[in-house]
Amino acid sequence: MKADIKSMTIEELSQLLAAMGQQKYRALQIFRWMAKGAAGFDEMTNLPQKLRAELNETAYIEKLKPEKIQVSKKDGTRKYLFRLKSGNAIESVFLKYHYGNSVCISSQAGCRMGCAFCASAIGGRAHNLSAAEILDQVISIQQDTGEKVGNVVVMGIGEPFDNYDNLCRFISLIHAEEGLNMSLRAITVSTCGIIPKIEAFGRDFPQVNLAISLHAPNDEIRNRLMPINKKYPMKELLEACEKHTEITGRRITFEYSMIRGINDEKAHAEELATKLQGMLCHVNLIPLNPVSEREYEAADRKSVEVFRKALEDKGVQVTVRRELGTDIDGACGQLRLGF
Ligand code: SAH
Repeated sequence: MKADIKSMTIEELSQLLAAMGQQKYRALQIFRWMAKGAAGFDEMTNLPQKLRAELNETAYIEKLKPEKIQVSKKDGTRKYLFRLKSGNAIESVFLKYHYGNSVCISSQAGCRMGCAFCASAIGGRAHNLSAAEILDQVISIQQDTGEKVGNVVVMGIGEPFDNYDNLCRFISLIHAEEGLNMSLRAITVSTCGIIPKIEAFGRDFPQVNLAISLHAPNDEIRNRLMPINKKYPMKELLEACEKHTEITGRRITFEYSMIRGINDEKAHAEELATKLQGMLCHVNLIPLNPVSEREYEAADRKSVEVFRKALEDKGVQVTVRRELGTDIDGACGQLRLGF
């Protein structure tokens, strides 16, 4: 099998090239080409022809080609469908905010977590993306738009902490100075709440932002919406979040999708506030986005506002997320596995 060199760190690439009798700077040259989006060794014109031929024999460069691009007429959001070697397809989204361009990327093809309201869970299967497949979503989108991506959120398809090793490798690659040189603080990883990985992540990448998909004020409601809660209930989850903050000193974001008649009452906000009071955190309210296979509906504007105010009155920081890309099913929870 050919080596997936785009998933390699510079050190690993150097070792591979040393084993081929090459000097270290060759690894840097190749790494830079890949970050710029080169699709093959033959594009790497500063490498000797003989080396290019040798690399063609032993290694390959992961390259995602957009199979479909949908552009929102409302806000310019762009949704990409990328076909993978496995035959599955994933989606990624390019969003323009006043503070810069963000890309929302997928970490798995499909998702095993089974959240009741999320399109990514439909089908229930998942395979992990390689670090290169995660990284190249950003590189390919930069190539397509010709614009620099300032922020990356790992909030697309999949549960990043269910693909922990490749997620960490991806972060090291995108952060590498010789690569995209992205600041760790410009990256946000969102999890449904896999506690052991929350703790590990705080130690491994204390500067990366952490978001937790909470969506409920108590176990009873959370169990109904998110099967993971049965394994990692809320009390332990919130304790893990406190520990994360102790290690990192960073504010956690809690995502709360508001679902009509399920989790959108003022009493729910008050119950949530009691649990979050005193934590270094921020709640992001997201009116549920429609997923055609699901019967859940979005909370109405008025209950969102009442909920927001109830949290605020109890001293919990809260914002209502501006939804981009709903007309192309590119908003939170609307991304799905393609075949
Ligand atoms: N698996 C990770 C990463 C996905 S992030 C996680 O659960 O955090 C995508 C976010 O959108 C999550 O907070 C998810 O719960 C939320 N979401 C899922 N379906 C949604 C929907 N229909 N409307 C709004 N948000 C949704």
